Amino acid sequence: MADQNIPYKIYLEESEMPKNWYNVRADMKNKPAPLLNPGTHQPMSAEELSAVFCEELVAQELNDTDPFIPIPQEIADFYKMYRPSPLVRAYCLEERLKTPAKIYYKFEGNNTSGSHKLNSAIAQAYYAKKQGLKGVTTETGAGQWGTALSMACSYFELDCKVFMVKVSYEQKPFRREVMRTYGASVTPSPSDTTEVGRKILAEHPGTTGSLGCAISEAVEVAVGTPGYRYVLGSVLNQVLLHQSVIGLETKAALDKYHIMPDMIIGCAGGGSNLGGLISPFMGEKIRGEADYQIVAVEPASCPSFTRGVYAYDFCDTGMVCPLAKMYTLGSDFIPAPNHAGGLRYHGMSPVLSQLYDDGLMEARAVTQTSVFEAAEEFARVEGILPAPESAHAIRVALDEAKKCKETGEEKTIVFGLTGTGYFDMVAYEKLHDGKMDDYIPTDEELAAFRARLPKV
Ligand SMILES: *Cc1c(COP(=O)(O)O)cnc(C)c1O
Repeated sequence: MADQNIPYKIYLEESEMPKNWYNVRADMKNKPAPLLNPGTHQPMSAEELSAVFCEELVAQELNDTDPFIPIPQEIADFYKMYRPSPLVRAYCLEERLKTPAKIYYKFEGNNTSGSHKLNSAIAQAYYAKKQGLKGVTTETGAGQWGTALSMACSYFELDCKVFMVKVSYEQKPFRREVMRTYGASVTPSPSDTTEVGRKILAEHPGTTGSLGCAISEAVEVAVGTPGYRYVLGSVLNQVLLHQSVIGLETKAALDKYHIMPDMIIGCAGGGSNLGGLISPFMGEKIRGEADYQIVAVEPASCPSFTRGVYAYDFCDTGMVCPLAKMYTLGSDFIPAPNHAGGLRYHGMSPVLSQLYDDGLMEARAVTQTSVFEAAEEFARVEGILPAPESAHAIRVALDEAKKCKETGEEKTIVFGLTGTGYFDMVAYEKLHDGKMDDYIPTDEELAAFRARLPKV
């Protein structure tokens, strides 16, 4: 079964790890649209952004020209603790499926936070420390980002204030405790500790919160507390830049064995893991050096790419953040309570939105039950219990591998396995008990949110 020369796991030596992040914006012919000031609708200046974000991260956010940005030694050293992450040849899965397809996955779940989010958390904490800040604020939905950031902040001895969407705070007490173990303070959102939180509570008593609402609270506290800035775990250009370490390692590992992928698949919430995974491949595609089919996979319950519009929108519910041009469902869209917490954001990375609009990548929406069925099929042979988010990519990889079985095509498929699902067993339980639902919003519902987009 195994190809003669290709091992089950392709590792890189420490010396082969990337020394720079790759900034795909430098190669994009159509650059992502700039963030706009929500009051004036003018592009946000570095100075304005610096009130909210760390200086060095603002520079990275606005940098559309440098293809390579050096990874500081302190971050490279931290990466060595849990990277390179393995690129696994899914021989066992191929065998089970009896497919001629060659399937590889890049596994990012091999650190305590359980996901790729640590790759950017450590970078953002480093720049905050370098600037001499006391601490950072952020929001977290299901808790993966908050966990990753808490780890990164404790490493650099920074204070970390996390606003956690209330429903997750109550339903995922273990994630909350992991964050507190790393020294973070965790506040359920909306809370009465911020002006925007009190306003949302007054308007929607009993609300269980949303990511957009937690962002507004975290930004308010960062802007109002001396020595604090706000950090975000996805969507932003800087986050995709840090996550390019995933794609660079993947490419280096494939190149070692002269493997050319036909297809690259990843799940898309705010777009950071997918953006990071595809960046170096997309660069080659834009420069005309190679061609790849690139597929974003999103939940049918929160279909930003496949049913959203490409427009300027608010990033948060309280409308305090800059406007971003992105594929969006509307900033007050709250998806049905599906179990892939990391994929429930209403918008999408401006970089990926532009690439998608330019026809350089495609997107598919998949239903929740089919995602968990794919997760189980994978777990039973590959020995990893995947996060519900990651299982979206698995669903499409399995569909493609099964197609290859029918056509006899020997496609090489690479997908991103972003994390593990041990904190998501309630969702697996729902599947086993036949209680999982597959709510898909109607066109009328989506149109109502779209009508409330800001007029820019
Ligand atoms: C947050 C998260 C995602 C989605 O976020 P992106 O920014 O789109 O990558 C996917 N998988 C896991 C495990 C996550 O924690």
